[in-house]
Amino acid sequence: MINKHVHDELIQKYRKHFGRDPEVVAYAPGRIEVLGNHTDYNEGFVFSAAINFGTFFAAAKSTSKQCRLVAGDLMKEVTFEANDVTPSKTDTWQNYVKGTFAGLTNQGAAVGFDGMFFGNIPLGSGLSSSAALEMSTGLALAKLYKITVDPVTLAKIGQKAEHTYAGCKCGLLDQISSLAGQEGKLVKTDFRSLVYENVEMGPDACFLMCNTHAKHALVDGAYNRLREACETAAAYFATVLRHPVKALRDVSMAEWALYKGGLPETVANRAAHPIGEDERVLKGAELLASGDLPGFGALMFDSHESSRILFQNSCEELDVVVEAAKKIPGVLGARLSGGGFGGSVVVLVHPRDAETASAALASAYAAKFGKPCDVSVIKPAPGACVL
Ligand code: ADP
Ligand code: MG
Repeated sequence: MINKHVHDELIQKYRKHFGRDPEVVAYAPGRIEVLGNHTDYNEGFVFSAAINFGTFFAAAKSTSKQCRLVAGDLMKEVTFEANDVTPSKTDTWQNYVKGTFAGLTNQGAAVGFDGMFFGNIPLGSGLSSSAALEMSTGLALAKLYKITVDPVTLAKIGQKAEHTYAGCKCGLLDQISSLAGQEGKLVKTDFRSLVYENVEMGPDACFLMCNTHAKHALVDGAYNRLREACETAAAYFATVLRHPVKALRDVSMAEWALYKGGLPETVANRAAHPIGEDERVLKGAELLASGDLPGFGALMFDSHESSRILFQNSCEELDVVVEAAKKIPGVLGARLSGGGFGGSVVVLVHPRDAETASAALASAYAAKFGKPCDVSVIKPAPGACVL
């Protein structure tokens, strides 16, 4: 079992706190976004991977209406009624669980649960601890309440929890990646059809995740504004192109270049990012199929440049890591991963160079900011499951 020590610690804590064993335990991993930034809500394409860090959720049915929910790292408990699942302003971590529970049960249940979650994903670092919490909650509670739910529906329940309970209008990338990951493989998802496939990375590739701990914007607000710019641009292209445009997925870079003059420059630049990212993901799929990892890595560098200049969701800390990565032998590509404005950089490297590259990245970061960034070796890992 992956992350067995985390699982065992959760079970011990659960027994001690609730005085009994859980009836169900589920696991869901975090994810890295490898190529395709802010393309999910533009109905485009993404390469991602589930990672070897995740969250366990343990639960048992209660005999009353009351739900008791414990965040296992803080050992903090909140309670709420199973038939009154509303978002809370305090201990906001409960909202991811409540939102998922509400979505799964159609706004609540007659009987509550005793639940506890515990994991090892750094929070708010772009590795999607929030989706891991939603998907582990969803799988555990679906089993506990005998609710049948398919992966795409569960992903949408998690997304809705983020939208209505946590205020972030995210796409479906994080939830789909957490559910669909496979060991050693990337997940390539078409966010229009919501069809995903697993793509072999081969033994010559692994990833480093460099967590800068930087957090620059009120992430929700900035994320939602970028999304709005994409929607404005898509509505404009729908009026000038002769084929249907439902989302930026339907606009090519060539069409963008021809018609961008009708948009304010900032909106045009924002739109160029997901459009370019879609083309890079499709190109990247061809390169992976032919075993061209350096070519794939070059697309990751291009992706970061597009974030930095066009979409403007990068920041100095992320840029410093990517620039340092370009100079380190064995590094094939690097780019910001996730929403942006801080968080983490994902680096593609040959496994034999992972250790030296990690040290070089940490010290390049320390030379600039006085303290190293956290670098972890990430292996594409299995997706979420009920244990
Ligand atoms: P990310 O998903 O990239 O980690 P988010 O801001 O979307 O960043 O989600 C982080 C939030 O998710 C935390 O602030 C917390 O509310 C909640 N969360 C996720 N996992 C846990 C956990 N194991 N313990 C407590 N809170 C958690
Ligand atoms: Mg999140």
